[in-house]
Amino acid sequence: MEQNYYQKEIETMPVDKIKELQSEKLIKQVKHVYENVAYYRDLMDKKGVSPDDIKGIEDLHKLPFLSKADLRDAYPYGLLATPIKDCVRIHSTSGTTGKRVVAFYTQNDIDLWDDCCARAIVAAGGTDEDICQVAYGYGLFTGGLGLHGGSHKVGCLTLPMSSGFTERQIQFMTDLNATILCCTPSYAAYIAESLKEQGYTPDNIPLKAGIFGAEPWTEEMRRGIERDLGIKAYDIYGLTETTGPGVAFECSEQKGMHINEDHFLAEIIDPDTGEVLPEGEKGELVFTALDKEAFPLLRYRTRDICVLSRKKCSCGRTLIKMAKPMGRTDDMLIIRGVNVFPSQIETVLLNEGYQPNYQIIVDRVGNNDTFDVNVEMNPDQFTDTVSGITSLEKKLSNAMKLMLGINPAVHLVPPKSIARSEGKAVRVIDKRKLH
Ligand code: ADP
Ligand code: ZN
Repeated sequence: MEQNYYQKEIETMPVDKIKELQSEKLIKQVKHVYENVAYYRDLMDKKGVSPDDIKGIEDLHKLPFLSKADLRDAYPYGLLATPIKDCVRIHSTSGTTGKRVVAFYTQNDIDLWDDCCARAIVAAGGTDEDICQVAYGYGLFTGGLGLHGGSHKVGCLTLPMSSGFTERQIQFMTDLNATILCCTPSYAAYIAESLKEQGYTPDNIPLKAGIFGAEPWTEEMRRGIERDLGIKAYDIYGLTETTGPGVAFECSEQKGMHINEDHFLAEIIDPDTGEVLPEGEKGELVFTALDKEAFPLLRYRTRDICVLSRKKCSCGRTLIKMAKPMGRTDDMLIIRGVNVFPSQIETVLLNEGYQPNYQIIVDRVGNNDTFDVNVEMNPDQFTDTVSGITSLEKKLSNAMKLMLGINPAVHLVPPKSIARSEGKAVRVIDKRKLH
């Protein structure tokens, strides 16, 4: 199959050359961070490492890790490495107040991010003849503006739809003959379902490819989406802390995602000991941003569990590949493509006069996530009538929708029926099976 590349020289560069490039960039980047980010300088000083100790990527392991806790500690400006006047944008993960993680971008940072997304679009077969419908959320979330920037770079006609308003998505898609759809896999499945209900078949849906990511999805789900939309569906990975989507992207082989390792140096570590694991072993993915100016995280622990592989790829790209992340080590849930933190649910419960005794149960039925929250009723509600309880459940569910953007099914359960814990409470039961 004829291969197209967006930046061929980089994407097919011999591995030893890529490593040389990474070494050069790492040396510079460590100096930049040490000189400009007091927070990280302190971590390095504590570990007894100075920029002079870093002579190439073989010295990477000497640097301290950064974790999400550090980002929260340093919120909002503590990890900023350039003057604010050089920054042109922020993005943010969805945390609750006080826990939000914000990332900063200079114009160069945006350019390199857009390039990464452009590589993903071209790898999915995109050219300047394509009409690219971006149905990831626009705004603080990185999905929308990331793929939007990439689509512009490729020269696609960009439909900046953002997420939601499914009727309108379908109208634009079918009226304008969109050929590439970018959104979360769960939203793609929902769009596919809606198209079917309106009588569309894979033959008369104009799309040819989809670029889906920002949440875990199974191969079964991929096949279902491909079948229902009549497309090839490509995975894309990224996180706000490292720019956004496009850190890694899938090619025609559809087996793992190529990491844009000229910009992002990847390691796999044992999440318990921090020890670096050899290629091919499963562990926590850690990224070092080699070119980012405003928010250049070194050895950032993603909490995503996956495997790296340098096996030769049939697409001709030499960039290392990461397997689909198999889950994350922290507490954030992605439900129907929306980020949900247990702490957000807790906030609603407390605001509504409940005790923080609750459990979140998530499952996947077909391609749809189910989302249930069991909440202990207050003792005075225990004697209420069934209809009284139902309306209380509805009220809580609506309050959660305001906070989260999606409605859980709330079930009020008898007082003291949810197990107490002396250590960390188990707030989440996630039954979605992801292999
Ligand atoms: P948040 O941390 O609030 O989720 P992001 O939107 O930056 O903010 O999400 C990044 C996370 O989303 C990643 O760390 C990973 O867990 C998940 N993710 C992104 N892309 C994929 C993908 N293709 N497959 C599985 N998980 C993904
Ligand atoms: Zn490939």
